Amino acid sequence: MTRYGMVIDVERCTGCFNCFLACRDEHSGNDHRPVSAAQPDGHSWIKVREVERGSYPKVKVSYVPVPCLHCTDAPCMDAAIGGAIYRRADGIVIIDPDKAAGQHGIVSACPYGAVFWNAAENLPQKCSFCAHLLDDGWKEPRCVEACPVQALVFGDLDDPRSDVARLCAEKRVEALAPKPAELPPVGYLGLPKFFFAGEIVLGDKPDECPEGVTVRLRDGKQTVTAFTDNYGDFEFNGLEADAEYVLSIEQAGYKPRELRVHTGADPNVGTIVMEPAA
Ligand code: SF4
Ligand code: SF4
Repeated sequence: MTRYGMVIDVERCTGCFNCFLACRDEHSGNDHRPVSAAQPDGHSWIKVREVERGSYPKVKVSYVPVPCLHCTDAPCMDAAIGGAIYRRADGIVIIDPDKAAGQHGIVSACPYGAVFWNAAENLPQKCSFCAHLLDDGWKEPRCVEACPVQALVFGDLDDPRSDVARLCAEKRVEALAPKPAELPPVGYLGLPKFFFAGEIVLGDKPDECPEGVTVRLRDGKQTVTAFTDNYGDFEFNGLEADAEYVLSIEQAGYKPRELRVHTGADPNVGTIVMEPAA
């Protein structure tokens, strides 16, 4: 039996909103009962969140598309009354547009903000993975088809030959926060993590950008090495939140430097000046 899932590669996503527009094109004004009622203006059944990190000039922007995750243990189903939300045999979580009328509590029950309220119809609504198309023989929802950079990978999680199953087997797929006990059928690659960035200046050559200076970052478990680029800049990405690190810088002919840094935020450690060895 097919079990549908999706892997969203955040590092590929450019924030173009094609997925959102394809979703609107498919659902706006189009009633696909029994799996979804027509989508009104103002709904984002796949919402592209913009996540900005760091501080000027060391800033990173990531785009995180968030549809319904079709959670394995779905809080929305617990909040629904009278079977208004159910899971199909293929894993898709459906809001029944007839039974869900008036159940506003379903909107706040979703921890991912994936359910939207249709005031005119008095109805909670969300992504159905375009179940009406899959039932018609389509291989993927409209959002997946519309993505120009293949940031959305869709398929059968139980088919080891599918791209989505292969990605999940690599064990790099993560759940969106708040992380549930079990990875939902929609998982993520490259979710934004903390980073450290800074710049090295040689005290006796302040007008030059030193390329290739060795910068090491270590915690109690491991050491990661980076080298400055041709602007003298360095960065370490993918770090854990609220962790202590030691940053050490070495360059032949200069006194080594060592700094303690903490990922309470994304620290820009600024300019680190290396003084010549005596
Ligand atoms: S993401 Fe929200 S709406 Fe979708 S299954 Fe999970 S709890 Fe329900
Ligand atoms: S279409 Fe693809 S690249 Fe564009 S916002 Fe959606 S997931 Fe990102």
